[in-house]
Amino acid sequence: MRAVIAAGADWIHFDVMDNHYVPNLTIGPAVAQAVRPHCVRADGTRVPLDVHLMVQPVDELALAFAKAGADLISFHPDASTHVDRTLQLIRGAGCQAGLVFNPATPLDVLEWVLDKVDLILIMSVNPGFGGQSFITSALRKVEQARRLIDASGRDIRLEVDGGIKVDNIRAVADAGADTFVAGSAIFGQPDYAAVIGAMRAQLAR
Ligand code: ZN
Repeated sequence: MRAVIAAGADWIHFDVMDNHYVPNLTIGPAVAQAVRPHCVRADGTRVPLDVHLMVQPVDELALAFAKAGADLISFHPDASTHVDRTLQLIRGAGCQAGLVFNPATPLDVLEWVLDKVDLILIMSVNPGFGGQSFITSALRKVEQARRLIDASGRDIRLEVDGGIKVDNIRAVADAGADTFVAGSAIFGQPDYAAVIGAMRAQLAR
């Protein structure tokens, strides 16, 4: 994590999988708490810890991650019985709250909770494993989310997660995204700064 921060990463995206909502099993709040002190840049500024919960149920773990030092916590609306309450719970714990949409999940729920959302995360793969290919229908959903955000006039981040690489990041930005998650694209290369620099160059075109 120190290496990707030194290489220019703006945020740390933290994928939490529970072998229940998704088939894989990853890391929990103890790991978030352990890495939190290392999420700082050389100049001492804090690097946001962006926790993506692929867990069910959501509420108890969301609170545990808030306590562990998360800055943003997002969850899948289909994993919470009471989406509005979970959003309020996360914000009440001092974090920004996000909703995550799987490739086949519609954005309908946003109509009712957009005023409680700080981040919308569009999945461009099915959640559960790294290294999957980008599902192109996600671009249409990003465009749809961008229209909703612009119409609301609220300051909401639009993030995309899954299969983002140097050669498709520009198309994702053109669809309306402003925040990009990359795992394999960066960690699969020896020179993190070169990949992040190439991504920024694509976005600056
Ligand atoms: Zn994620």
